[in-house]
Amino acid sequence: MGLLNALRGADLDVRAAVSADTVDGRLPRLLVRPRSTQQVSALMSIATEHDAVTIVRGHGTKLTWGAPAPEASILLDLSLMNRILDHQPGDLIASAEAGAAIADLQAALSSRGQRLAVDTMVPGTTVGGLVGSNVSGPRRVHTGTVRDLLIGVTIVLADGTIAHSGGKVVKNVAGYDLGKLMTGSHGTLAVITEATFRLHPEPTATRWLSTRIATADLETVLAAACASVVAPSAIEIDCNAPDSATVAILVEGTGAGVAARASAISTMLAAFDLGPDDHDQAKSGLGDAQDWTLRFPFTTGGTQVGLKLTAALGGVVEVCAAAVAHGLHVRGSAGAGVLYAAAPTSITSAELTTVLSELRPLTARLGGTAVVLDGPRDIRSEVDVWGPVNGLPVMRRLKDQFDPGRLLAPGRFVGGI
Ligand SMILES: Cc1cc2nc3c(=O)[nH]c(=O)nc-3n(C[C@H](O)[C@H](O)[C@H](O)COP(=O)(O)OP(=O)(O)OC[C@H]3O[C@@H](n4cnc5c(N)ncnc54)[C@H](O)[C@@H]3O)c2cc1C
Repeated sequence: MGLLNALRGADLDVRAAVSADTVDGRLPRLLVRPRSTQQVSALMSIATEHDAVTIVRGHGTKLTWGAPAPEASILLDLSLMNRILDHQPGDLIASAEAGAAIADLQAALSSRGQRLAVDTMVPGTTVGGLVGSNVSGPRRVHTGTVRDLLIGVTIVLADGTIAHSGGKVVKNVAGYDLGKLMTGSHGTLAVITEATFRLHPEPTATRWLSTRIATADLETVLAAACASVVAPSAIEIDCNAPDSATVAILVEGTGAGVAARASAISTMLAAFDLGPDDHDQAKSGLGDAQDWTLRFPFTTGGTQVGLKLTAALGGVVEVCAAAVAHGLHVRGSAGAGVLYAAAPTSITSAELTTVLSELRPLTARLGGTAVVLDGPRDIRSEVDVWGPVNGLPVMRRLKDQFDPGRLLAPGRFVGGI
């Protein structure tokens, strides 16, 4: 039986892919929308029987991330699996299906005064996509990353096997912390169908404080903010020119507590304040700190080259300066050592290779990495987007165990995994 008939025979919602289903410039053959973990399992068994390359999609905002996506037979769309399954306010945990929008989850949690403490940078983000791409926003400084907040997952392996972390032991995946493996796996290891998160109470007050300072003072200000007893929830920077940078600090908590802590931060920042720079603000689109801190400095979806630059906290200023010297616009969590950078839209693959050849040794020396996250497909085909990776043999062995037929987005992840 052909692939289409086999999928229909399993009562799956399947149709030919149309242009809106294009993944990274390539049209998959079929779009399949399962309604349950069992249907995902049936689908993956059929994909394995037919050797059908499959790409998983949440809301498709990041399918141009990583190495170029392969030609696919199946686009596995989780949009019909969008239920919030459980919320236990007393235990501060909630579970949802992978296709549920994070915004819907947050709205349900908020009605009980709780939240999943991640920042949603792009409207439409789903639970599966958030875990699959492991992007944690500014608040990671205080509450940790997606990986820290994820306490359980249900996944379907390429051959259709269903596995739960912390639950049923499955022979070929026994002993692994599945949630940690799935975080940032970019749809290459297994299909996430459900996730359970640890929650936090919603703060009653939040306040961003932001100031433009001289780059020469950045190290001092960041060190003071990181060491501060006011325990900021986020410490962000935006740097688009060699001489100055904007620092934004978030405090959260009770009304009175936030007022006092904001005042302490404000006094600290005032000593370095260069004053507003209307020209810079207009140029970089900086408005309210809350707006820019919740946006990447680059446009996504394969239109502009965007990088992720990491370093130990003490190396953030040096990495930022080096990137800005290459004409990149840098923004991100200085308090966590995770920065994002936008390349000029005119950058060529040869120029990007030169930038990477200088940033990679620097970030490595400072305890981090330089990765190309997003960009036009032709550029990502010509540069090494992931760069050198430690532990590649272990990752290859995992891929072999989870997806021996290399059906799930092959080639997209590090080392061609
Ligand atoms: C540029 C950019 C920056 C972002 N930064 C942040 C941030 O800092 N903080 C934050 O909270 N959010 C951030 N987001 C939002 C969020 O991380 C992404 O929008 C989200 O991960 C993409 O969700 P999606 O549902 O559109 O996933 P998709 O783009 O559809 O998928 C994302 C990746 O996960 C895989 N995937 C999707 N669903 C599954 C599944 N069920 N099982 C296995 N793999 C799966 C996909 O194959 C793909 O590799 C950012 C988004 C973008 C585009």
